[in-house]
Amino acid sequence: MTFATLGLIDPLLRALETLGYQTPTPVQAQAIPAVLGGRDLMAAAQTGTGKTAGFALPLLQLLTMEGPKVDSNSVRALILVPTRELAEQVHESVRQYAEYLPLRTYAVYGGVSINPQMMKLRKGVDLLVATPGRLLDLFRQNAVKFSQLQTLVLDEADRMLDLGFSEELKSIYAALPKKRQTLLFSATFSDAIRQLAGQMLNDPLSIEVSPRNVAANTVKQWVVPVDKKRKPELFSHLLRKNRWKQVLVFAKTRNGVDALVEKLQGQGVNADGIHGDKPQATRQRALDRFKASEIQILVATDVAARGLDIEDLPLVVNFDLPIVAEDYIHRIGRTGRAGSTGEAISLVCADEVNLLSAIEMLTRQTLKRHEEQDFEPEHRVPETDASGQVVKKPKKPKKPKTSSGGGKRNLGKWVDSGEVAEAPAVKPVRKVPAFNTGPRKRKP
Ligand code: AMP
Repeated sequence: MTFATLGLIDPLLRALETLGYQTPTPVQAQAIPAVLGGRDLMAAAQTGTGKTAGFALPLLQLLTMEGPKVDSNSVRALILVPTRELAEQVHESVRQYAEYLPLRTYAVYGGVSINPQMMKLRKGVDLLVATPGRLLDLFRQNAVKFSQLQTLVLDEADRMLDLGFSEELKSIYAALPKKRQTLLFSATFSDAIRQLAGQMLNDPLSIEVSPRNVAANTVKQWVVPVDKKRKPELFSHLLRKNRWKQVLVFAKTRNGVDALVEKLQGQGVNADGIHGDKPQATRQRALDRFKASEIQILVATDVAARGLDIEDLPLVVNFDLPIVAEDYIHRIGRTGRAGSTGEAISLVCADEVNLLSAIEMLTRQTLKRHEEQDFEPEHRVPETDASGQVVKKPKKPKKPKTSSGGGKRNLGKWVDSGEVAEAPAVKPVRKVPAFNTGPRKRKP
């Protein structure tokens, strides 16, 4: 199958040729004809599957072939995304795909001045990528109108709810024309997402490109059990021993990011960090430098790293396991993208056994363990399996100094005192009614 057989027009095919896309990915093969045919879509596709082109290509084609010229302050298609980084990234892809098309595209998000965005919107924009909070601000100041809107895309819808954007989504939804095409993309499908889909979509085509909630199988994953206090030392050891070239590292908290970066820099390693406390420009610069291979190690929290698209990233290291099991899938989605293989290594201490168990249950696999010589943990990580059970007591219980949880779920324990996890503390299994609850976090 080729992009031409999917019915894409010549200017798009030329852009794809420039980008070196030869064959459509499974999500593209299913989404492109459906969107061109005017269908609503509910797609379970995680990042790394090629989903952005899956919705952007047919959307650009419809905007070119159908509908009126855009009026001032109007938009004809809207892509909602959870974070600024993702807004930039999706817009960059859109820009590349639209290179040979006579369309105006733009991205708006918070954390930067609103005035230039208002100016830019004056002429009207065919396709706008936006985060929900800033879009609503612009709408309330009459800088953007939706009367010409023909298509709405919700990208990473699960994350938008996780970040507490349900009220904004509700307000935006109320302002949109009832007659429109809606495409919903989500890595995971909780009850809340299904409810959202029920309200927003009209007879949608369901697409599921990888089994629900199962991580990309092009990623080799394993766990290195280690005592918590020895994680930094183990990381440096593995970095040296394996001569890792470029690594994206995930830490749970902002303090955790800063501490690891400082430690690595102290050892002469070229490392930088991104988290929600850092200004947008600093985060973007660190990311750009990492992409340009000017930085060897980028340490990030889940919120800051959401949706990062870094091509050919061979390795992701979970310095800490994520509090929300779904974030594990998003994290390892940074590697093994678009068919290439990648590795995801998690440094896991005894305190994290319940997080490990939740991840194994969600991804329906028992992660292989490799103990590193001289780093065998004193506090053994109890055995786990994909049933979500902690199946055995520690082999050699060495009188733990503190009770480490031993199978009891205790979310509070996993966050060091004095530190606040960057990711919103959503329980691994959520039942959040759409549009009215959920933790609120406006500034990822
Ligand atoms: P996404 O899942 O949309 O974040 O895309 C993941 C990565 O795959 C991006 O770097 C895309 O540029 C790339 N990509 C998407 N579709 C294709 C394709 N058909 N062939 C090659 N690369 C692709």
